[in-house]
Amino acid sequence: MPTSVAAYAAQDASSPLVPLTIPRRDPGPTDVQIDILYCGVCHSDLHTARNEWGMTVYPVVPGHEILGRVTAVGAAVTKFAVGDTAAVGCLVDSCRECASCKAGLEQYCDVGGFVFTYGAPDAHLPGQMTHGGYSTSVTVTEDFVLRVASSLDPAAAAPLLCAGITTYSPLRQWGAGPGKKVGIVGLGGLGHMGVKFAHAMGAETVLFTTSASKVADGLRLGASAVVISKDAEARQQHAGSFDLIINTVSVSHDLDAFTNLLKRDGTMVLVGAPAEPHPSPNVMNLIFRRRAIAGSLIGGLPETQEMLDFCAEHNITCDIELIKMQDINDAYERMLKSDVKYRFVIDMNSLK
Ligand code: NAP
Ligand code: ZN
Ligand code: ZN
Repeated sequence: MPTSVAAYAAQDASSPLVPLTIPRRDPGPTDVQIDILYCGVCHSDLHTARNEWGMTVYPVVPGHEILGRVTAVGAAVTKFAVGDTAAVGCLVDSCRECASCKAGLEQYCDVGGFVFTYGAPDAHLPGQMTHGGYSTSVTVTEDFVLRVASSLDPAAAAPLLCAGITTYSPLRQWGAGPGKKVGIVGLGGLGHMGVKFAHAMGAETVLFTTSASKVADGLRLGASAVVISKDAEARQQHAGSFDLIINTVSVSHDLDAFTNLLKRDGTMVLVGAPAEPHPSPNVMNLIFRRRAIAGSLIGGLPETQEMLDFCAEHNITCDIELIKMQDINDAYERMLKSDVKYRFVIDMNSLK
């Protein structure tokens, strides 16, 4: 018999999130049951709640930056024990058979077998969709549960599970490090982690922001320069100089302003996922310096663990504002105004 737990859900694209009771499966042999302590608020939660990507199934319980305490484990579980700190990100399962899954790149599962933490058909509860971390408890197969060092503040570590890995992964893939110049576009949840990671990896890091009020924070977080992205003259001072740009902006915008700043063979990686397409980029900008525009999706399980271990080693967490579950609708409105410093995290005690 599934257990009923408290949650917050969007019931349609235009209404505020409201309380909802949802079923959670009892732990099977390989499952870990987690009492959720904290859950970060990702802009993807908002895109999904409002059906901005056109694929939401309602009701949806968002939340994929989950950190909590293990309350029960199945008989075959070997990696977790009751009382452990445990974390869950954007994935709760995958096909586990294809080349991508076998390579630990479950987010790119070749047969589309990834199971997102919320909004995917739930194989364990027929007729139900998976439900995310805006709830008091979750049950996940142990291979998709991550470890977070006890030295890290748990509330500030929660957003590492999406904002952290989504910026860490492309920085690693495209070789951010000493001798490389990396641009981060947008100082929100993802962007502020991009700045911290690029700096910690040893790259020269430059922040592009539309918010003049964030300049001092950009420097504090590790950027050696901050450029107001709408200032064409300030941008032009960096023309042709970047090896890599990670673009986290959540709305459609002119990409040429940034491709122009790449060196020969430089790449701009889009991680922001706006509802509306970007205007088509200027091809000449790309052709003449063999520049590339790429995309990147979260990270696989092994790399997510690597990122969490990197954070423990370098004492990196997120800059957060703790909120109550009941404040989620206000938090969404503030996120739309770029007024987050730099991630909202829900204290799940407020729902218990
Ligand atoms: P966020 O906290 O809201 O940050 C987005 C930032 O974009 C804002 O803080 C702002 O930075 C900038 N921005 C907002 N409106 C802008 C505008 N009109 N023009 C220029 N810049 C603007 O969002 P997030 O949680 O970091 O997520 C960012 C995007 O990444 C979302 O689309 C989300 O769905 C996506 N995402 C993708 C993945 C993936 O795997 N690829 C994973 C997670 C999230 P400034 O104030 O500094 O300009
Ligand atoms: Zn996310
Ligand atoms: Zn697969």
